[in-house]
Amino acid sequence: MSTLPAIAFIGLGNMGGPMAANLVRAGHAVHAFDLSASACDGARQAGVNIAASAADAVKGAAVVISMLPASRHVESLYLGQGGADAGLLVAIDAGALVIDCSTIAPASAQKVAQAASAKGLAMIDAPVSGGVAGAAAGTLTFIVGGESAALERARPVLQVMGKNIFHMGAAGAGQVGKLCNNMALGVIMAVTGEAIALGVAHGLEPKTLSQMMAVSTSRSWATEVCNPWPGVLENAPASRGYTGGFGNDLMLKDLGLAVEAAMGMGCTIPLGELARNLYAMNKQAGRGGLDFSSVVKLVTKG
Ligand code: NAD
Repeated sequence: MSTLPAIAFIGLGNMGGPMAANLVRAGHAVHAFDLSASACDGARQAGVNIAASAADAVKGAAVVISMLPASRHVESLYLGQGGADAGLLVAIDAGALVIDCSTIAPASAQKVAQAASAKGLAMIDAPVSGGVAGAAAGTLTFIVGGESAALERARPVLQVMGKNIFHMGAAGAGQVGKLCNNMALGVIMAVTGEAIALGVAHGLEPKTLSQMMAVSTSRSWATEVCNPWPGVLENAPASRGYTGGFGNDLMLKDLGLAVEAAMGMGCTIPLGELARNLYAMNKQAGRGGLDFSSVVKLVTKG
């Protein structure tokens, strides 16, 4: 019998599935729930115990982790839709630690953390960077908001799923950090695509151009790891029809959250707003489900 804390995991999608699998591999008993039967089937094969409901999954768990799409899913999971006592918070064991890894609005993270605290539960927001590959390899970066004591309790569990942990501040601060990172990424990806398109229009070879940029002053993850031009990097989504990466719609969601967060504080983010519009146009062009690097198609022919 393992002495490691029992974990409940809610949300076994592209990210949550491999994260839960890594916890099982490390010796944790993981009881999980997802609304999607196929997500449950995949996790079951990795040794995750599938519960009949989220409330069943959290019974006896010392740590509860969620990895859901957006704010509304996280709020309705923990707070319920029918009033303060309708959500999962009432079903979680006293003394358990709650870790939400979803990317959501900072204000939503604060709202849920306050409700958890009112029920005597410690909670941190711990959105991640590193994508599906990082989730599978256990090399995610966790960007954390909440009390230091709660983070220290979470640390051994986060270390199973990731290799970098940054404490950004109080509840919601992890989400702010995540939005800053993704806003910069969204802008960099869009301009990288434009730059390569400009070069190609002048007859440059995209691979040579990208190799030059990767060791010059514009170097970035968008050029070196997730290059938006098909054929430049064999393993990038662009080289497999923009499938299997970080979805355009998720980037659009994150940029929307960044714009909202900026308005809330009276900050000016002209490039962030422009990028949000570009990913919205890419969605309208039918590429919402494709990798966000497909934004380059807005400036290329065919
Ligand atoms: P996903 O859509 O693949 O998975 C989400 C899962 O949550 C789905 O399986 C869905 O059925 C489940 N779900 C929704 N509501 C539920 C509920 N009430 N109870 C149980 N299950 C529920 O999304 P993902 O790619 O795994 O992303 C999850 C989060 O991580 C998002 O907030 C996203 O922005 C963030 N993120 C994603 C990536 C990436 O590369 N995919 C990278 C970093 C961060």
